[in-house]
Amino acid sequence: MSRVYNFSAGPAVLPEKVLLEAQAGMLDYNGTGMSVMEMSHRSAPFAQIIETAEADIRDLMSIPDNYHVLFLQGGATQQFAAIPMNLMQNKVADYIVSGSWSKKAFKEAKLYGDARLAASSEEENFSTVPNVDSITFSKDADYVYICQNETIYGTRYTKLPETGNIPLVSDVSSMFLSEPMDVSKYGLIYGGVQKNIGPAGVVIVIVREDLVREDVLPTTPTIMRYLTQVDAKSLSNTPPCWGIYICGLVFKWLKELGGLSAMKEINEKKAALLYDFLDSSKLFKGTADRQYRSLMNVPFVTGDAELDAKFISEAKNHKIESIKGHRSVGGMRASIYNAMPLEGVEALVAFMHQFEKENA
Ligand SMILES: *Cc1c(COP(=O)(O)O)cnc(C)c1O
Repeated sequence: MSRVYNFSAGPAVLPEKVLLEAQAGMLDYNGTGMSVMEMSHRSAPFAQIIETAEADIRDLMSIPDNYHVLFLQGGATQQFAAIPMNLMQNKVADYIVSGSWSKKAFKEAKLYGDARLAASSEEENFSTVPNVDSITFSKDADYVYICQNETIYGTRYTKLPETGNIPLVSDVSSMFLSEPMDVSKYGLIYGGVQKNIGPAGVVIVIVREDLVREDVLPTTPTIMRYLTQVDAKSLSNTPPCWGIYICGLVFKWLKELGGLSAMKEINEKKAALLYDFLDSSKLFKGTADRQYRSLMNVPFVTGDAELDAKFISEAKNHKIESIKGHRSVGGMRASIYNAMPLEGVEALVAFMHQFEKENA
């Protein structure tokens, strides 16, 4: 067996300890004589898995009691529709567009009501985040929407918009559990887990009580109503049981590590290593606005497409995998999520150093 340093943006690297634990229980989970994959979602062992997972994420993020935690299917993309369907009582929402993911969410919301563009960084090719201090929001907006870490362009908010009484909705898919967050500042936080938490197939929604309502848009499918899922404790239909189980193991792993403050320190150390090298390099250049650089996704280029391709191909000889940039922007992107060990970033920087010397 030989593991690589996997810089994929998602599905992405998971902690080895978690994979080994899952492997150990593959044929016989905890004396049940079956794997979690084969188990009824109504069984006592699974009830314990999902309840423990919820308690652990509540603990990790210090989620206040007036928020529900849901483990759902459909990915982050399904929430692009579920959010307006559930929250658009006035049929008005303000969107800040800072990359492809918020742009997609904005486009989807327009299907359901008057989604307004509050600010955009598209003219800067999404290399930056709009200045939140200069935005005025619609008085009648049901919510303000942001994507807090834009996976493709490698930017993140360093400050949240002040929305007053208007609930703030945030897509945190690519930064989920990478650092502490003040949940009480948001109406709804959600993310697909395949970036920073677990296997594809689970989306976690953290929603404030008062936003779980009966008066949703009348065409909202029953399964997509937050109230349905709150009432059923995420078990309205068969949930992604295996994925939830792995998320639970990752929550335990994070707790053992010291929680989200400890995780943040490690993430800052990893990101600094890579950004410091990029800032001093004569060959490589980071593409995101310094002020808003992501701790999780680091896009960079040489400025020469052929050299980029050579770099990506030679990287494989150093166990560096999935370093190619998103198809819409080219270049390279290193996703350095929670489970990427420091040695992985060290190996990447060492190879970049070598490549720079050889191709000067
Ligand atoms: C990957 C990603 C999505 C889409 O996630 P799916 O689970 O594939 O629907 C949405 N938002 C962000 C920020 C992402 O990184």
